Amino acid sequence: MQEVFNIHSKIKNLAQTKGLQLKFHEVPSAGIDLNFSHTTGELNGLLLDILGDFPNYETKIRVEPLEQMVQVKGQIKCELNLTCSRCAEVYANSFSKNFVTAFYKSEQSLKNFGMHSDDLTGSFDLEFLEGDIIDIGEVVHEQMALEIPYQPLCSEECLGLCFQCGINKNKSRCQCKSEDNNFEDEKSPFSKLKGLMKQKEN
Ligand SMILES: [Zn+2]
Ligand SMILES: [Zn+2]
Repeated sequence: MQEVFNIHSKIKNLAQTKGLQLKFHEVPSAGIDLNFSHTTGELNGLLLDILGDFPNYETKIRVEPLEQMVQVKGQIKCELNLTCSRCAEVYANSFSKNFVTAFYKSEQSLKNFGMHSDDLTGSFDLEFLEGDIIDIGEVVHEQMALEIPYQPLCSEECLGLCFQCGINKNKSRCQCKSEDNNFEDEKSPFSKLKGLMKQKEN
């Protein structure tokens, strides 16, 4: 226990100077457990671009050598503050994920790598490591960034903003109805069909 604590404080010191980094060849065979959260704060600065000023996250990470690789296995619980791509409102989106990132130094080590699939749930990445430094902060950053949707939506049914007056249509209605409806009509793949049907009826 004492030893784990020492490794922790050693890593913390490293973290303050060069980010959270471990050397590939120096990961002890017993592995290292690392737990971070917004309260302990080691990664807050690094995650600022994803989580903003009020981060809310918890990670449990285990780093251990595996055959000729180093495996970073972790769990992330996190709250993302996303901006809806339709109505521009900020909304919270919580997620929890498991991941494994296995770092390797040579193609040979890949060939020797037998998958240990017993506790492999969540995402799995193989990453070629140039140099000798594994940046744990970067791994966490990448895993969180992967959870940001390309087009965030506060809800599937979000009505978005009025194209004319900019009002949030989830919250209130406006008077610029007709133009807006025309626009919706043009967008709909059925609008042409609707037009054809009308012609037929006439
Ligand atoms: Zn929205
Ligand atoms: Zn309007």
